[in-house]
Amino acid sequence: MHVTEVESFVLKVPAPRRVTDAVNEAVVLALAGVRVKTDEGIEGTGYTITLGHGAEAIKDIIDRYYAPRLLGVDPICHQRAWGSMYWSEAHWVGRAGVTQMALAAVDIALWDLKAKAFGVPLWKLVGGHKAGCVPSYNTDGGWLNFEVDQLVAEMKEIVAAGWRGVKMKVGRPDPREDVRRVAAVREALGPDVDLMIDVNQGWDLTTALTWAHRFEEFNLRWLEEPLDPDDVEGHRRLAESTSIPLALGEHVYSRTAFRDFIERAGIGYVQADVTRLGGVTEWLAVAELALAHHVVVLPHAGDLMRVHQHLGVGHPAVQMIECIPWAQEIFEQPFEVRDGVVYVSDEPGASTSFTEEALSTYRTA
Ligand code: MG
Repeated sequence: MHVTEVESFVLKVPAPRRVTDAVNEAVVLALAGVRVKTDEGIEGTGYTITLGHGAEAIKDIIDRYYAPRLLGVDPICHQRAWGSMYWSEAHWVGRAGVTQMALAAVDIALWDLKAKAFGVPLWKLVGGHKAGCVPSYNTDGGWLNFEVDQLVAEMKEIVAAGWRGVKMKVGRPDPREDVRRVAAVREALGPDVDLMIDVNQGWDLTTALTWAHRFEEFNLRWLEEPLDPDDVEGHRRLAESTSIPLALGEHVYSRTAFRDFIERAGIGYVQADVTRLGGVTEWLAVAELALAHHVVVLPHAGDLMRVHQHLGVGHPAVQMIECIPWAQEIFEQPFEVRDGVVYVSDEPGASTSFTEEALSTYRTA
């Protein structure tokens, strides 16, 4: 089998509502997608997602540098394909961001294709660790632009729907306000629900060292992305100053960077995102690294849970996945979540195919 065609595209899908965190605003999801086709008629679909900006640049990298390297290649040999793209002409401008997200989109398409070629769902191909389902926690009630009443009401709704873990955004200009918001949510949910907070890189080290320990009384499961996601030493200092475990990974682009965060910074949770890290190939390397250090992997919802449900069920390093149940209707395969547990499909592939309707409605390039 060999690759005969690589077709890239951009979909712009409206977010179900406008939401914010400490540094981002979501109004539109812009997906840079790719279909890899073969001489045997089997094809795979992959994508990466941005908050409206940059998808065209990602598509351009795929078209200029990665697609030509895939033509004629055996798509089952994912390591060879990955290395060829990583060390392409784009390497000079790459290794993170746009080029790595483009690589992720293509690599996911290759794994979708590979799973279909073997006639199994991706979760079985990566090891089939769990019996077809994985717990999730929900982030969709905790946005920073919600006032306290809405925040508390939505968190309670999510827990009433069966989730046992919820995450909320912090990083308002005055951290006292964050403390009051977290106190209100903890009070409303009681002690038996996992509560997490996410700063989305909104603090400098001084703010983090001053305020992180003030949240300890709320029995938080983790503190997420408190700092600049390149600052290993800052995270080490912060981890030493608070009893709340640190989590990060949605802006970490390589196994080498994860190694440093795990070994030197004492990260408690690895939130590797398959759509940013360089695809399933690099994600698996990070998951094995985490496993060797007995650190839990909790994949970020940046892929809309499609690939991560498979990796979560398939790999022993994953305890649960993040869930933000948006835009599931753009995919052909259903997304099934009951009482906060995600039940993965048995259909061959990675559950990444878009419906024809989504392609015709939202395609802009
Ligand atoms: Mg986050």
